[in-house]
Amino acid sequence: MGANMNKKIITLILLITMMPGIVLAQSAVSESTIVDELGSKAAKIAMEELKFEKGDRNILALTDAGYAEVNGLTTQEALSGIAKETGMNEGDGNFFRVLRANNKPLWFFFFNKATGYAIYIEVEDKSLKRSSDEFEAMSNDQIFCKISRANADLRYLLNHTDEGNATFNGKAFNGNEFALVGIANIWAQPQSTFDFLQAACFHDHLCPGVTGGYMIAKYVEKVLPITNGSESYKVIAIPQWCKDDLLQLRWDATPGKSGMFVMALTDAEEKALNLKYKTDVSGIYVRWNETAKKGDALVLGFNWTTMYNLTGTDNWKGPSWATMLVMDIRMMDYWNRPEVAISTLKEFTVDQDMLAMMQNAGMHPLKVAGVL
Ligand SMILES: [Zn+2]
Repeated sequence: MGANMNKKIITLILLITMMPGIVLAQSAVSESTIVDELGSKAAKIAMEELKFEKGDRNILALTDAGYAEVNGLTTQEALSGIAKETGMNEGDGNFFRVLRANNKPLWFFFFNKATGYAIYIEVEDKSLKRSSDEFEAMSNDQIFCKISRANADLRYLLNHTDEGNATFNGKAFNGNEFALVGIANIWAQPQSTFDFLQAACFHDHLCPGVTGGYMIAKYVEKVLPITNGSESYKVIAIPQWCKDDLLQLRWDATPGKSGMFVMALTDAEEKALNLKYKTDVSGIYVRWNETAKKGDALVLGFNWTTMYNLTGTDNWKGPSWATMLVMDIRMMDYWNRPEVAISTLKEFTVDQDMLAMMQNAGMHPLKVAGVL
């Protein structure tokens, strides 16, 4: 019986190795080597164009590798190529993946904070449909459909608006200018933090709304701190804006796990709330205790008028591409002073029934909370 079973297993193994699926898997391996090599080639271009050596801590690398797919294949091997060439890794806080849909182009972006120069490199999909040998023989211009170097230092660009206009209006980074310049400039500030940059990369770009989310997070964490393992934050995101991407990442408050419920307000509701509270109503935040089945809730306001005033962007006379970027930088001063813009409009306790009512599609959470 034992020998019979062994025979069967051997036959099965033989069959499996002859199946076409295995051959496919082998060719996928060689394609992944190409993607690794692709990352390596992009890094070499950046090192030459931005004049840096392996291990240079003035360099930031951003890419959507691992999110973007090329010809139906995932692209995470490009990260290994970049890491090998530049010595950069996620743990050093200078190598981030920026979220993009899987159907978007694969790109690499490097920024040298010592010089202010950046390079954007986008992959030509067709170039990966080659054998390893063919790929090796291709020129950079065949592999990449865009290699574009430009100054990305915000202070420099504000002093050289012609260059800024050319970069932004001419789409030097193929439409990613705002996202990449924003993340690069915040990263370059000494007071920058990994958690914030990570959230901005998840959001796809860095805008004042993400910063607002960071401030809300700090405010809630101070007023309603998590004190034991039964507690977690639940967000009724009404109305929804960029803040919510930071919050769901930071608190693991994902919609799929009932950590976040997202609802819009009509213009009329927003206006009425603004008149009533003299601030922008910005959601309900619950510290929920899963064991006790109860929680504490805050309805918060975020005063954007105050934030525009404080950052001097209310009467912005500079180039339009710079407004939000300047605001991003100036809002850094308020990262740890959220109370300048955030106020508690209402504080109340929540039980299971009330939480369910605030999460229900047929209900209006602000009415349930007694705010509207
Ligand atoms: Zn945004």
